[in-house]
Amino acid sequence: MSAVPVTIGVGMPQRSAASDGRVHPADAPGSPLVDTFGRVHRDLRISLTDRCSLRCTYCMPEQGNEWLARSSILSLDEIERVARVAAAAGVTTFRLTGGEPLLRTDIVEVVRRLAVIEGPDAARVELAMTTNGIRLPELLPGLIDAGLRRLNISLDTLQRDRFRDLTRRDRLDDVLEGIAAAAASGLRPLKLNAVAMRDVNDDELVDLVSFALDHEAEMRFIEQMPLDAGHTWDRSRMVTREEILDELSARWTLTPVPGRGGAPAERWLLDGGPATVGVIASVTAPFCGDCDRLRLTADGQLRNCLFSTTEYDLLPILRADTRPDEANAAVADIDIAIDGMLRSCVHGKLPGHAINDPSFLQPARGMNAIGG
Ligand code: SAM
Repeated sequence: MSAVPVTIGVGMPQRSAASDGRVHPADAPGSPLVDTFGRVHRDLRISLTDRCSLRCTYCMPEQGNEWLARSSILSLDEIERVARVAAAAGVTTFRLTGGEPLLRTDIVEVVRRLAVIEGPDAARVELAMTTNGIRLPELLPGLIDAGLRRLNISLDTLQRDRFRDLTRRDRLDDVLEGIAAAAASGLRPLKLNAVAMRDVNDDELVDLVSFALDHEAEMRFIEQMPLDAGHTWDRSRMVTREEILDELSARWTLTPVPGRGGAPAERWLLDGGPATVGVIASVTAPFCGDCDRLRLTADGQLRNCLFSTTEYDLLPILRADTRPDEANAAVADIDIAIDGMLRSCVHGKLPGHAINDPSFLQPARGMNAIGG
């Protein structure tokens, strides 16, 4: 696959001097994952499955989705292995996503294995999850016991009919029960995510924030991105950051929270705080210059950007045949090869996602298969 042409513009980093394509001493296994623009990568999004219990219109088709082959889905051991190598290279946060991560039958064990991984400084990684919340009431106690520390739950509407139309499933009550379970668990910060959509839920922004406040959660609105499986995204219909802020400003005084770092969300205090709201404006205010994220798909592909059309295949490395008498040497070799693939992926990262470039190409995979 070819790389996307890029326009360097707002929010784009400048290429660092060390970008001559050679392997540098700083690229030795165990050193930080620094790209050619100087961005240090500390966040790995791990997609556990492309399957989901909902069919959100902005993400998946109603029918006819081509699922990833089951034989290519990473096993628990394979996920743990990649995660360990990434942590040794300075990744400090793993976010489990999908598809719907809670559909994995071994989800509690995945959390248990990843939660104890330590980085080079012996500090444990931070383990977070993005979920639709539907299975949280039954699974949350086990997940917390296994080491889950942070939750983002998706909630686009509080209206049952809308929820059914938007997700093609009548499961709003299940999601609300999941959010109630998360709020009661004391896991904080708790974040709720909504994709803002014109004539779909853009009259509910204030209601969604109020709902989040009632659950001691932060509401975060996401600009809709061109990642739907049907490739129907239409810029002119997108609800923008500015529109979201205008709507919220009519109800609350918004004060910017400084110190965003590499986080995707810009945040504002509501009426002076401490409650906050966030906006993830990937389209109208890209934050690529501070991006510290890599992605691992459920079928073992490393990606350096949601919108990349290039993937770095770990499956042949993870599944290489080894003779029993070579097993110990092979273990070390495989880890070195995984580390090398992480570095190739980081080195191949472009300055920005180029959604706003006329020649932008939407990736072939939908968001459910990339990992949101
Ligand atoms: N199933 C889980 C969930 O519902 O949160 C995790 C996977 S989902 C793909 C992760 C996040 O991606 C959700 O918050 C969802 O709203 C967001 N998302 C999916 N497609 C999107 C799109 N086209 N534009 C913006 N956000 C999108």
